[in-house]
Amino acid sequence: MHDLLEQFSAVLGKQYVLTEDQDKAPYLTDWRKRYSGKALAVLLPKTTNEVAKLVKICAANHVVIVPQGGHTGFCGGATPDNSGKQVILNLKRMNQIREIDTANQTISLEAGCILQAIQEKAAAQDFLFPLSLGAEGSCMIGGNLATNAGGTNVLRYGNTRDLCLGLEVVTAQGEIWNGMKGLRKDNTGYDLRDLFIGSEGTLGIITAAVMKLYPLPISQWTTLVATENIASTIALLTLFQKRATSLLTGFEMMTQESLALNEKHFPQLANPLKGNPPFTILIELSDHESEEHVRKLLGTILEEAFTTNLISDAVIANNLSQANTFWHMREHITLAQAEEGANLKHDITIPLSSLENFILETDALIRQKFPGVRIINFGHLGDGNLHYNIAAPIGIDPKEFNHLHEKPIQELVYAQVERCQGSISAEHGVGQLKLADLRAHKGEVAHQLMKSLKRALDPQNTLNPHKVVSI
Ligand SMILES: Cc1cc2nc3c(=O)[nH]c(=O)nc-3n(C[C@H](O)[C@H](O)[C@H](O)COP(=O)(O)OP(=O)(O)OC[C@H]3O[C@@H](n4cnc5c(N)ncnc54)[C@H](O)[C@@H]3O)c2cc1C
Repeated sequence: MHDLLEQFSAVLGKQYVLTEDQDKAPYLTDWRKRYSGKALAVLLPKTTNEVAKLVKICAANHVVIVPQGGHTGFCGGATPDNSGKQVILNLKRMNQIREIDTANQTISLEAGCILQAIQEKAAAQDFLFPLSLGAEGSCMIGGNLATNAGGTNVLRYGNTRDLCLGLEVVTAQGEIWNGMKGLRKDNTGYDLRDLFIGSEGTLGIITAAVMKLYPLPISQWTTLVATENIASTIALLTLFQKRATSLLTGFEMMTQESLALNEKHFPQLANPLKGNPPFTILIELSDHESEEHVRKLLGTILEEAFTTNLISDAVIANNLSQANTFWHMREHITLAQAEEGANLKHDITIPLSSLENFILETDALIRQKFPGVRIINFGHLGDGNLHYNIAAPIGIDPKEFNHLHEKPIQELVYAQVERCQGSISAEHGVGQLKLADLRAHKGEVAHQLMKSLKRALDPQNTLNPHKVVSI
């Protein structure tokens, strides 16, 4: 073991091989505090060549590598097991922007770049990097690619996969694959880029990427509206999609119970809509033309929504700071849940045509079988993506409640997802949390194909084993 640590130190320098308990501690527990592990060492490489050398050493010694970015993932994918024999390869020191190509509208950057820093760098050159999520101050682009993160702009710009044109990857054998072409068309056989995106560190280590940039919108209008039920909410989405088409960049749903939790923990984020409506919808329109154009369009659509009784109240943000407060309301629900204690998360997608049926039926079943629970249902409704989370009844210890009821609640929710032909993981991935569920819900043929890919690319099973798929 000592010899192994010396080999790592020879590549990185001793200070970037963390072995002391207090130095390793920040890397060992996931954001939700659901998973905690041990590690032989935390390795902090600065270059792709260093990553390749480390992987070769690990491959030669059959040492398991757990790749890690900002460690904000919700499925325990970046947390090691308890053996103390695995190493964490954290990419935070690989944080260089290699190039912004203004003609090609792309940014080439290393995997350890923090998402918010990328957005700011792009904006400084009048570009939009549209990937946006609540963890953007700490998650890293390598982690976003490895989980194919979604977030609030998927409706208009797609998820991380849609934003990526090229990758650089260190394979399980320590080879460097240079796929850093910023091409929008490249039909040269199998798409290796797409294979690594969303593979959660189980097929290769993403060290750099070429991502798309977009012109920065000139004007953005954000509004909160009240709807009485899910049917009106979906009809409202259809109305906005028809009238605003590609100007619609956000459509987020928050239920009364979600916002009640927000208000409890973040009273400064009280809902400005009257009377605590059953559903509060955050809608954003963005435009590359004049402010006036989009403001007028928003007004016309809202008027139509009022006259057809789809909405009962609306507040339009009259400056950027108010718009940011509306977004904070949405983003703080996750944080409010964390403050409240452990909860049961279900990150699911349902076809929009089945969404009403799913919510009405599932809510009724949950309330009947588990009286008193709080259904914290919110999400990127424009994508059919619900965070259908369940919190223990008030006054009951969440840990105890979850211990007793996690399995039956999850089975109920996933059976409903299956019935509606949805997905049990919309954007958070699989990690270790949904390993068994993936097997049950993906279908046998798909599961076997995934195993074949894993065996082919990582035959020694040293890259993040027992995450996503076990071989
Ligand atoms: C408050 C909050 C809000 C969130 N909101 C959203 C949201 O709206 N949408 C959404 O999709 N997610 C959301 N998330 C989840 C999380 O932020 C995303 O999954 C994010 O993409 C993870 O990035 P990370 O750098 O933290 O990755 P990590 O958590 O470090 O890793 C995630 C997985 O990717 C692997 N990995 C990391 N880096 C690499 C690499 N360079 N090469 C290969 N594999 C790698 C890890 O092994 C692990 O399996 C949220 C999280 C929080 C805490």
